[in-house]
Amino acid sequence: MTSTPLDFRSDTVTRPDRRMRAAMAEAEVDDNVIGTDPTIAQLEERAAATLGMPAALWTPSGTMANLIALSVHLQRGDRFLATRGAHVLTNELGSAAWLAGGMPDILEHDAGPGRPTPDLLRASIGNPGPYFTLRTTLLCLENTHNAAGGAVTPPEEHAQLVAVAKEAGLNVHLDGARIWHASVALGVPPAALTVGVDSVSACFSKGLGAPVGSVVAGSVEFVEQARRMRQMLGGGVRQGGILAAACLVALENVGELAGTHEHARRLAAGLAEHGWGVATPDTNIVLAEVPDLGAALEWLGSLGIQALPMAGKVRFVLHRDLEPTAVEDALQRIKAGAR
Ligand SMILES: *Cc1c(COP(=O)(O)O)cnc(C)c1O
Repeated sequence: MTSTPLDFRSDTVTRPDRRMRAAMAEAEVDDNVIGTDPTIAQLEERAAATLGMPAALWTPSGTMANLIALSVHLQRGDRFLATRGAHVLTNELGSAAWLAGGMPDILEHDAGPGRPTPDLLRASIGNPGPYFTLRTTLLCLENTHNAAGGAVTPPEEHAQLVAVAKEAGLNVHLDGARIWHASVALGVPPAALTVGVDSVSACFSKGLGAPVGSVVAGSVEFVEQARRMRQMLGGGVRQGGILAAACLVALENVGELAGTHEHARRLAAGLAEHGWGVATPDTNIVLAEVPDLGAALEWLGSLGIQALPMAGKVRFVLHRDLEPTAVEDALQRIKAGAR
């Protein structure tokens, strides 16, 4: 029995390849707290241009990028809206509330996976109330939507949601940890998915191979405030150019994602044949509905197939460190192991 572990736990499990390590080793660096690290500056400039934003700030993680954005946008007594299962709601330990000071409220996915309708958004914003009521000041979108199975929001729907938010005077933050995946799946540049937003976060360590690194982008004034907030959070990294060099290489790996998405669709089809409830994925995340989550994960583990639970389902994430044969291999193990 071969049982090399097949690691579908996350697209964050990838290791920097030789090319990336070489770029890191050779990176030009300087102190990025008392001055400017040239490689970080280069990455920030390139990321801002790619995301269609005036400026960008490198951060050690996507969680910090989101927290910085929410901290800049929110005041105590503010309410913000985010889609059910959004990373800012479920995977950041409540920091949007206890550090950024916002009261979260949930938007359901009534337009499809990961997406609220403009009508629901309008109704959820409501009308401004008297002084003793929360002020709704921020909309958080997520594209792709992780908990909805890497679901994409197309540019037209994004624009409609932004328009409703803007009409009501809200700021908009886009959690674009996997905006690259959305861009490739939709066949539009990332900048087409950030139209109208006040800030966007994006990760280089999700499927693009970087060991660490994200950005948060917005206006020049936003980034000025964001830089102070990053410092408060302890995110000022001195010779961070070594890490930014990896992010620059990661940006060159975006084109590979089309193949990764193809593998995800193949896995989904195979799991559906096995009898599990699986929708065709938009990108690199496959969610499988199984009769008994704990038992399914244990059974997969016994077959050497590593996956994690998400939103009550088994989540398989496809990424660049999986062998091209990993999906067929997994499906064969599942077939052979089935009782
Ligand atoms: C992973 C992820 C983040 C946070 O990124 P980290 O770098 O792991 O902190 C934010 N949003 C979404 C949707 C993610 O999937």
